[in-house]
Amino acid sequence: MTSTLPFTREQLEAIAAEHPTPFHLYNEAGIRATARELTSAFSWAPEFREYFAMKATPNPYILNILREEGCGADCSSMAELALAEAVGITGEQIMFTSNNTPHEEFQRARELGAVINLDDITHIDYLDEHVGLPDLLSFRYNPGPRRTGNAIIGNPEEAKYGFTHEQLLEGYRIIRERGVKRFGLHTMVVSNELDASAFIETARMLFALALEIHESCGVRIELINLGGGIGVPYRPDQTPVNLAALGEQVRDLYEEQIASTPLHPLCIAMENGRMMTGPHGVLVTRARHRKDTYRHYIGVDACMANLMRPGMYDAYHHISVMGKEDSPHDHVYDVVGSLCENNDKFAIERDLPAIETGDLLVIHDAGAHGHAMGFNYNGKLRSAELLLRQDGSVREIRRAETEADYFTTLDYPGLT
Ligand SMILES: *Cc1c(COP(=O)(O)O)cnc(C)c1O
Repeated sequence: MTSTLPFTREQLEAIAAEHPTPFHLYNEAGIRATARELTSAFSWAPEFREYFAMKATPNPYILNILREEGCGADCSSMAELALAEAVGITGEQIMFTSNNTPHEEFQRARELGAVINLDDITHIDYLDEHVGLPDLLSFRYNPGPRRTGNAIIGNPEEAKYGFTHEQLLEGYRIIRERGVKRFGLHTMVVSNELDASAFIETARMLFALALEIHESCGVRIELINLGGGIGVPYRPDQTPVNLAALGEQVRDLYEEQIASTPLHPLCIAMENGRMMTGPHGVLVTRARHRKDTYRHYIGVDACMANLMRPGMYDAYHHISVMGKEDSPHDHVYDVVGSLCENNDKFAIERDLPAIETGDLLVIHDAGAHGHAMGFNYNGKLRSAELLLRQDGSVREIRRAETEADYFTTLDYPGLT
């Protein structure tokens, strides 16, 4: 099931008349609806937080919409901390889950009052030495052979993230002795996962682990972060995770494992990125050239620099040819960009309606890891980001790059 488009060809042509293609277009109503659906699925919890993993769509206008819906931010770099602060997400509304972290970033996170989530046992000393230990500290758990991951994030045993089980228990004992008062527990073992049982297993695992930590270290975990990773149904035959049902199943586990223990009440958190914005953004591009050689190519004015998932992960993104949604899909095309890389293809041998140059193409589900993963290789410039607001108006929330932006870090005669 791919997202339905919140505009017609005529409406999109009107937007494109004001804003030249290619551009990313986000749907405010959709982002709000998803945030509400998630929050409502966990409304039973004593406290629930969604820390939006902002690497998916690091635009302050989008972050502000999510803040208004009650979301915090999951940050992992200096610039991401600055973005959170700029939109008024501060204190424990930020979870700082980073790895291989420089102390300047820990310092900034500490100043903002963020929940610092350490990736490794050696970071206890590192944080203590450079910044000091905060009252509240969280650890990222890597279950290793105890869990299987999935294709995007890899097998936990091979993943660079997190503490082992043994290190985790030792780590909580150490920080308790050093005066840390409040404790969090986090893991992130899957990404782009559409099978809800993966998240239920994570909840079961972390609830049991929190009890074990309580028994063996005398530490009462108050915050359990189940991680992000809820997937997007990129393909037409896929279905989204039923959030309400997921919430209910986690609730059952909470009742069973936690409710009658000293760990109750417990704050449950997630840090989804992709599912929050992915289905609510599209990449809009125009067919520029047709080329018929050994295959039939449609060259569009966007390229892999605007959306690298197909080229990088072989990812499927549904494509609509505007105004021809119901025409027979009786042509087979490779839809390609202009990079000098043969993996710069948005679709390979895709059944599509006959495409004329000038047609508007919409590449679906580009609202996460789309613009965000943009790059300048081959002298390509990043596109604009537009927001379709709830009243139907469109606002440019990031302008397109210009040649001057591309040359701005150079000091060379004739180039700036
Ligand atoms: C990327 C990331 C997330 C979000 O993952 P999604 O698949 O976008 O939900 C959450 N937590 C951490 C630590 C991440 O690196």
